[in-house]
Amino acid sequence: MSLRITEIFYSLQGEARTVGRPTVFVRLTGCPLRCTWCDSAYAFQGGTIWSEDKVLAEVASFGPQYVTVTGGEPLAQPECISLLEKLCDAGYEVSLETSGALAIDAVDARVVKVMDLKAPGSGEVHRNRVENIACLSPNDQVKFVLSTREDYDWAKMQCDLHGLYERVSDVLFSPTHELLEPRTLAEWILADRLPVRLQLQLHKYLWNNAPGH
Ligand code: SF4
Repeated sequence: MSLRITEIFYSLQGEARTVGRPTVFVRLTGCPLRCTWCDSAYAFQGGTIWSEDKVLAEVASFGPQYVTVTGGEPLAQPECISLLEKLCDAGYEVSLETSGALAIDAVDARVVKVMDLKAPGSGEVHRNRVENIACLSPNDQVKFVLSTREDYDWAKMQCDLHGLYERVSDVLFSPTHELLEPRTLAEWILADRLPVRLQLQLHKYLWNNAPGH
């Protein structure tokens, strides 16, 4: 069992419900999508082959409580399913960041899935796998990265259409770095009384999105 890994590092969680928590990140290489605003393009290619045991040993060396498996699109490597299960077995609180384009039904139920729904501004709205929504549990989270008012209105519509506020623990609205002012998005959310969480990607403010953070 082996995986292609771009990086494994210890940092503060930049997104989602555990934002600010020290976390080990396992970034798997490769992604079949090409979002216009992608901030992880360095993970599209390259990487190094690691055995699953070596990945688990490296994660353990940090002594973490939280582990996040991310990419790229981690589910593009089928071995990711086994890795997630082993990380849960080891006692970590495990989350998976996934694009929403690949099936999530085989992901261990103990894993917190942080699943994107790609808005039109991503250029990948046609890749959303609608069947995934039925696989989300009340412990999971849905993330929308928004670039424009059109994206925002689309996201609002998806939340209503799929009953997302009732289905998952958090609906995250994240402004695209440098394309949508966080304050503008905050004002839209407040004006519409939306029960979403605005997220600002802490790692970009702290480390300007440098790899390894
Ligand atoms: S799914 Fe994620 S890694 Fe893949 S292109 Fe989109 S933002 Fe980048």
